[in-house]
Amino acid sequence: MDKWPIGVFTSVDAGLGVQLDVVRELGIPSVHLHAPHKETRTEQAAKDFLAKCADAGITITVVFGGFEGESYADIATTARTVGLVPKETRAERLQEMKEIADFAALLGCDTVALHIGFITEDRTSEDYKDLVDVTRELLDYIKKNMQKLHLETWQESADHLLQFIADVDRDNLFINFDPANMILYGTGDPIEALKKVGHLVRSVHCKDAKWAPEDKRGQEWGTEVPLGEGDVGMERFLSTLNELGYTGPLTIEREIPHDPERQKADIRRAVELLTELRAKLA
Ligand code: MG
Repeated sequence: MDKWPIGVFTSVDAGLGVQLDVVRELGIPSVHLHAPHKETRTEQAAKDFLAKCADAGITITVVFGGFEGESYADIATTARTVGLVPKETRAERLQEMKEIADFAALLGCDTVALHIGFITEDRTSEDYKDLVDVTRELLDYIKKNMQKLHLETWQESADHLLQFIADVDRDNLFINFDPANMILYGTGDPIEALKKVGHLVRSVHCKDAKWAPEDKRGQEWGTEVPLGEGDVGMERFLSTLNELGYTGPLTIEREIPHDPERQKADIRRAVELLTELRAKLA
């Protein structure tokens, strides 16, 4: 694959991504795929989807897990409902994530990813230790598929995520870096964080956002905006990736599925921006 192929976040029947026909129309060569619902995760569905991708010249580089009952309504609700962190659903979501990894294997994809959730800061707690164990179990399971897991940033600081990854201590655990999330969650300057965790970054989301007002950061969401119009600084982001030696896809994410026309237009402009920056920097 050439350096920095453009990508876009895609959904089949679940999630916030665009449909495959939009990817094809925009001529985008790679996708992150939000895993479909359980009933669609069949061998036949995988074959059909792969055939459509092959037909359009699209490579699936990461399959993202997501779960029933997750809500990003506000930061507190996100902390309560998202990922493997909520205790009451941890075991069943671990099982579902294994099934999603098997579906990704059917798609010929060697990488799965997820928002693990708000990891507690208390490393001595039973909850933390259990989360480490569950993450290890998932990693050991997907290793049999020759797969890696990428944790999506960023409900936690760079240091906290690095500590968690070190505690899990497996060689197939990496990071999907989403600079806008750090701004949305108010968890710190994304470029400073990228420099700290860059050695573990194996995929990225090109997404942009504006900070919430200073006194509300971490309590209220910032605002997701079209690529290049927010506080990430796309040129700074890409030149930092370049310095880190990152050569993988630049996967655009624009989370406004309620407005597909605008979503498509914004993604089209994002492709233009990334193509320009790539020509300048890469
Ligand atoms: Mg993302």
